[in-house]
Order: sequence, then C-alpha cells, then structure tokens
Amino acid sequence: MPIDFWDIPGMKPGVITGDVAWALLDFAKAKGFAIPSFNCTTSSSCNAVLEAGATIGRPVMIQFSEGGSAFFAGKALPNGKKEAAILGAVAGAHYVRNVSPAYGVPVLVHSDHCAKKLLPWFDGMLEADEEYFKAYGEPLFSSHMLDLSEEPHDVNVDICERYFKRMAPMNLILEMEIGITGGVEDGVDNSGVSADKLYSTPADCWMVWEKLRPISEKFTIAAAFGNVHGVYKAGNVKLQPELLGNFQTFAGEKLGTAKPLFFVFHGGSGSEKEHIATALNNGVVKMNVDTDTQWAYWEGLLNFYKAKEGYLQGQIGNPDGPDKPNKSYYDPRKWVRESEVSMVKRVKESCADLSNVNQ
Ligand SMILES: [Zn+2]
Repeated sequence: MPIDFWDIPGMKPGVITGDVAWALLDFAKAKGFAIPSFNCTTSSSCNAVLEAGATIGRPVMIQFSEGGSAFFAGKALPNGKKEAAILGAVAGAHYVRNVSPAYGVPVLVHSDHCAKKLLPWFDGMLEADEEYFKAYGEPLFSSHMLDLSEEPHDVNVDICERYFKRMAPMNLILEMEIGITGGVEDGVDNSGVSADKLYSTPADCWMVWEKLRPISEKFTIAAAFGNVHGVYKAGNVKLQPELLGNFQTFAGEKLGTAKPLFFVFHGGSGSEKEHIATALNNGVVKMNVDTDTQWAYWEGLLNFYKAKEGYLQGQIGNPDGPDKPNKSYYDPRKWVRESEVSMVKRVKESCADLSNVNQ
C-alpha cells in the first residue's frame, strides 16, 4: 500500500480514470478517508472545486447532474431528448479535462443520479466515452451513476448489469444506488417515500456484488442508511451509518475478506461529524456535496452585496460621490469571484470533514 496517494502508479494532475482512479478509491478506503464530489453547474463552480483541491494539494471530484449538465450548456437549449444534458455533461467533462492539469491535483469527473427516464442522457454520455476511448484509450469521464432505486431491486440490478457490461471495456467506474435517498434534489423528489425504503439491507448489497463483480471490480454502491438529500430540520429519518458496517460484514463473511464493498454517501449535507467518521470507517470512499456548496456560493454574493450595497445601485454614483463610477463593483468578475472564494472555503471544509487532507 502506497504511503501517499501520489505514489499510486499512474497518478497525475488532471482527470484520472480506470485503474488509476480505482486505485485512488481503494487507497482512500484503506486509509479511512473519502473524496468529496461536488455538483457543478458552471465553469465558475468547477474552478472553485479545482482551486480548493490545489490549495490543499488533495484529489477532488466534480460531478454533473442531468439538470446541472443542461444548465452548463445553457438554459435556452431544448432538452426534450436530453440533448442539452448530453451536450452540457460532455462539454463540462472536456472543460475539466482541459483546465485541471494546471491546478496540479488529480480529479475524477463523474455524472450524478440517472433515473430510468433519464437513460437517454446516460446513453449520450457513454457514446462520448466510447468516442474518446477510441481516440485516447480511456473514457471521457471517470465514472457515472445509475440510480434505478425507484424500480424493484431486480430491475434495478438488471439494468445496472446491462450498462456495466458496456462500461467495463472502457474501465469506467459505475456508481449504483440501492435503497432510496430521501428528500428532494434537482427535481428528484423522494420526500414522500416510506421510511422502510430509506434503509438498504445486507442482502441488497450482496445481490449487487454478485451481479456486478463478475463484470468488473470497478463499482460503488450508494446504499441507503437513512440519508436524505438537502438540509432539513431533524425529522423521522435517522442516519445510521453503522448499517454500512453490517453490509460489509455480511459480504465479507461470504468472501473471506474484510470490507469488500465501496460505498458512496449521498445526502451528507448537515451530517454530524461522528456520523461521517462512522461512514468512513465502514468503507465510504465518496461523499456527494451539493446543498452546502450551493449555499456557500450564494452566501459569498450575499455578503458582498451587503458590504457594497451603496456601490451597486447604478452605473454611476455611490457613497463616495454622485459622479463616481461603480464598474469595479458590478463587473461579474468581482461578484462571481466573491461566490467562488466562499465556495472554495466550503469545499476545503468538506475535504477536512472527510479526512481528505495531508495527514
Ligand atoms: Zn444523491
């Protein structure tokens, strides 16, 4: 086992895929840290994640949801056949590929929740991966998520199996969801789901392993352990990351290995630090962060506006005089930057929460 993630063979600044990306997740599991994956919707939010990674010298993940992908390409574009979402995700991945080497840290590029009705988006991204693979011997993205958790378990796992067979020759990592993450995120509303579906079982996770492992080792499971998207006041759903330990034990006893599963933590916003520590100890290698960085991005602008309100009411005239120009305040580079600086800070906090820091 390498001492430092940089010692992993093939590790490099910029987007990593395949064996190198998987070795990083394996290293994270062994070392007890996880890599936060941030939902990005613009080049600005991508830059904030990369800047934070560069500042602390640690790997980060950037992910695009279907809605975030469409937004990346532009809200005006039609998306009835997911064409804007395909275009935006592909453009976002190329963008991250192009700029990330300059930031000096490894990055995984990932696509977030893909439900059954969004599969055309998934197909489009895989086509781009295949095209990129033909040219460069690796996929465009590092990993993709399929979320068929609303379907019956067997349908869910069957569809994952079918897609994974297409992904494995490109060494793509598949993240799949079993059990349901509660709450609302980006148009996926699971706030009315009954409480028993919010907890996966050891048998669920084992079924996933049995179906997917013969195809490739490179899959992660977003198991449900009472996690909820978004930040809510304490409700009926109780976060139980110790369940992940039960899933590991069940699979581990069958396989004769300790902690064979790789877990992803969805809905981690607002989680208590001790719950995160338990999750890390039980094989969580990736945690999604969206709500907290959304707030940070907004708060940066909010605080700037409050501090400079008198300079932001017109092009000319401010508290220093009626003829004074305000261009240096309303230039988007000024206030978008304030959002970025605030988001950078929050990204670093997520990394620290997940022990993704130089120890
Ligand atoms: Zn999620």
